[in-house]
Amino acid sequence: MCVRESYRARGGSLMETDTIAAISTALGEGAIGIVRLSGPQAIQSANRLFKGKNLEQVPSHTIHYGHIVHIETNETIDEVMVSVMHGPKTYTREDIVEINCHGGVVAVKRVLASVLQEGARIAEPGEFTKRAFLNGRVDLSQAEAVMDVIRSKTDAAMKVAQHQMDGKLSRLIQQLRQTLIETVAHVEVNIDYPEYDDVEEMSEEMMRIKTKEVHHEIEHLLHVANQGKILREGIRTGIIGRPNVGKSSLLNSIVQETKAIVTDVPGTTRDIIEEYVQVKGVPLRLVDTAGIRETEDIVEKIGVERSRQVLGESDLILLVLNNNELLTDEDVHLFEAVKGLEVIVLINKIDLPRQLDMKKVEELAGGAPIIPTSFKTDQGIEALENAIEELFFAGEITSGDMTYVSNIRHIRLLEEAKESLEEAMHGLELHMPIDIVQIDVTRTWELLGEIIGDTASDGLIDQLFSQFCLGK
Ligand code: GDP
Repeated sequence: MCVRESYRARGGSLMETDTIAAISTALGEGAIGIVRLSGPQAIQSANRLFKGKNLEQVPSHTIHYGHIVHIETNETIDEVMVSVMHGPKTYTREDIVEINCHGGVVAVKRVLASVLQEGARIAEPGEFTKRAFLNGRVDLSQAEAVMDVIRSKTDAAMKVAQHQMDGKLSRLIQQLRQTLIETVAHVEVNIDYPEYDDVEEMSEEMMRIKTKEVHHEIEHLLHVANQGKILREGIRTGIIGRPNVGKSSLLNSIVQETKAIVTDVPGTTRDIIEEYVQVKGVPLRLVDTAGIRETEDIVEKIGVERSRQVLGESDLILLVLNNNELLTDEDVHLFEAVKGLEVIVLINKIDLPRQLDMKKVEELAGGAPIIPTSFKTDQGIEALENAIEELFFAGEITSGDMTYVSNIRHIRLLEEAKESLEEAMHGLELHMPIDIVQIDVTRTWELLGEIIGDTASDGLIDQLFSQFCLGK
């Protein structure tokens, strides 16, 4: 029994019998709001409320003008356009109705309330997508990608998610599983029909070749996974430097809108400001900080403590120095604080005369890129972008092949699958009995299956979908 069937059998859902409804657009003022229904009664329920054409008789995938009316008082609730879509060619594979009403909290809520009065049940978060999964339209990794598409902060993140939603990762995982299961089957046959003396040797050799092949693929997926994670979540970037060196200006230059307050008074960047920006399609989660230094000012202190925290959580540190001032002990402290982290040093205010001892800076930087900038004259931003690309993508973002594993759950499973395969390979080296080796190979097959949801538990499925937004 596959996961989907067993999930249903254990009462994990009442998919076939109930119809769900939810507001599928963001709540707030907008031109339109959409109330979506899915399930066997979707069309009938909507039809009872709809004044216009008979929705039960219109062709599938058509949209109709009319009004939603109160079923008892006949009062008009809203003027609407209603889409009717018959399963299985729908998002959930069930019958779906989408009521496009006026945007605005009251209109959509009143339409939803009417629909619920007609017997539909309010959908749980992610329940539409969960139905798509349970009805076999998408696998688990594709369903998870739906949420990633919604949450994408940049073009690159969206591309990665789209590729996953299209099933590119799923197909790759399926191929690997197929190779493993075929190998196991082949070896089984050899064991059952040991017509030749060297059958054991042949089985071992085949196992060796195939496990190596799959291991290589998993390693590659994990190798690029870090890039995928970065594309999805952004490079957490901390900006540090003494007061007045130009941190806020840097933030502004990149963000190109005045979010952080730029001022001449040292130490006025009091709070941590976070901002997503795109650098060559890569999301940067920029965090401006109050700088690291001892201070008596209590408000400043909060900023400073948080700055330390930011350091620890950053993937990249932009250390800003002032070209127009001598190097101070504080600057040296900052260099010490970021030792071992990914750092880019910015020599700011190059429009002003040099006072900074560059020899000393180079020494302190210890090979980290040093980029001259002027946020007054907008110099150096491109060089900074290139340096970031160089550091995280070895100078090239492979946007053509975006089959990146970016989801933490998938990465963890791939790591476990790799370990289990290594156990198998180790067993082969030691010439352990082939049926022992097979246990590890089968385990690898199962772990890979969890990524696409073929071998996922009910609890996991419920938990994953509960993280979705309402109406999706
Ligand atoms: P922060 O305290 O490190 O955030 O520094 P700010 O970004 O607030 O900048 C402090 C002052 O330096 C402001 O008056 C900026 O206009 C100025 N400033 C920033 N970058 C440059 C630069 O590249 N050249 C010059 N001449 N002034 C700059």
